[in-house]
Amino acid sequence: MTAYLFSPPAVSSLPIRGQSQRFAIHRIFCVGRNYHAHAAEMGRTVDKSVDPAFYFTKSPQTLVQSGATVAYPPGTQNYHYEMELVIAIGRRGFRVSQEQAAPLIYGYASGLDMTRRDLQLYARDKGRPWDLGKDFEQSAVCSEIVPMPGVVLERAGIALEVNGVTQQNSNIDKLIWNVREIIADLSRFYHLEAGDLIYTGTPEGVGPVVPGDKITGRVEGVAEIALTIAAAE
Ligand code: MN
Repeated sequence: MTAYLFSPPAVSSLPIRGQSQRFAIHRIFCVGRNYHAHAAEMGRTVDKSVDPAFYFTKSPQTLVQSGATVAYPPGTQNYHYEMELVIAIGRRGFRVSQEQAAPLIYGYASGLDMTRRDLQLYARDKGRPWDLGKDFEQSAVCSEIVPMPGVVLERAGIALEVNGVTQQNSNIDKLIWNVREIIADLSRFYHLEAGDLIYTGTPEGVGPVVPGDKITGRVEGVAEIALTIAAAE
């Protein structure tokens, strides 16, 4: 048995609907600018014929389960929600075609890609990495995993409310790169593995939250998600 100087980090995991076993998280990938209306509100356009999809990652340790209360994060004055469909990968795949993508799908979840928008945009405009804006503690919020093996979701409402007021309301049929395309494209760059999560991007309507706010949201036919914002530490 390996001896460690200190206890190794716990395995990040999520409950699976209808099962006692949990879904152990391997990596968290996120797609950037995957809805035209959101790209526009960020001051950008996407031309799929020339622009490749792009990705960033969050550490597995940033994962927070739906229903949590999180402190307003340090270093920001513009803490944003982004409601997203999350793909849960259940099988290894490398350089898969779009036609070969479905068997990699274990299921789906509803996710919040919480963002320190001021830090993200500062980094973006300086040509620097997005980590401070995206890969911070408790920034990857996720519902339970809903098993839908091999199912390619093509249409589903996606919506988010802050304190009960609708802020995001769209459909995943507006994804610029759809579920098959994301899996196939990402597998050109990584050996996808069971336990990988892919946050597929957010529709328009992103905005700030402050301490005391309660976020609710859902991908219809998948799962509900909730997050409460507490005072800063
Ligand atoms: Mn996002």
